Amino acid sequence: MIYLIILAILFLTIIYFIKKPKAVAESAPVVAESYRDILLKEVDYYEQLPEDEQALFEKRIHLFLSEKKITGVDVEADEHTKVLVAASAVIPAFAFDDYNYPMIREVLLYSDTFDDSFLHPNREMKQDRISGMVGSGPLSQVVMLSKPDLISGFQSKKRHHNVGIHEFTHLLDKTDGIVDGVPEHLMEKKNIDPWLSEMHKEVRKIRAGASDISPYALTNDAEFLAVASEYFFVAPSEFKKKHPELLTYLQKIFKQEVSEEGIEPVD
Ligand SMILES: [Zn+2]
Repeated sequence: MIYLIILAILFLTIIYFIKKPKAVAESAPVVAESYRDILLKEVDYYEQLPEDEQALFEKRIHLFLSEKKITGVDVEADEHTKVLVAASAVIPAFAFDDYNYPMIREVLLYSDTFDDSFLHPNREMKQDRISGMVGSGPLSQVVMLSKPDLISGFQSKKRHHNVGIHEFTHLLDKTDGIVDGVPEHLMEKKNIDPWLSEMHKEVRKIRAGASDISPYALTNDAEFLAVASEYFFVAPSEFKKKHPELLTYLQKIFKQEVSEEGIEPVD
């Protein structure tokens, strides 16, 4: 009998240790004080904002980080990367008070570009590289991003690329239910046709090799909006100079204006 009791105690002890949660959290929450340093160093958009707007931006970063899960699939979701994910989300939505992407709950980070199964990095098959994607079906509440591509989007302004801003622009486009390059909830009806005609005019220029907007914008209207928006937020002065007509519509869609000082929400 005594053996049975000892055996039972041993069994329960083992179960306890197996089930006990790990003392060290794998992904510690980002401390509010560290937002500012990372933003100042890495995010030009934040750096050029006036001080009061910077404080609002930090609050929005905090809101995003406190409500959304950011998970590294095969790579660490460190503090620095989390802040960059949040900045990508806040930048295009900054003029929309307290908007926090209710349609998503999680952002997944990958160590490289990935394939369309979202399961493993895709180092060999370079022709099918995916740097970022808004999930669909069972993954409709998820955004997937390649961590190195997310980081490089904030480092190289020359290429006008920022995959984080690209994917979150798709989500803003989706607020009317369809990702189609026309975020109807963010536009006045009278601007929709002129926006599409301006877009298609630029599409012809890209085809003719007469535009500096990435040819990826030729994929469809939704990609045009996302690609043009990356450029608009990454290099606003250059975008204003080279694409004044498109600028008019993007300023209206995002309720942000490009000035001598930079870009910021319109009051
Ligand atoms: Zn896209």
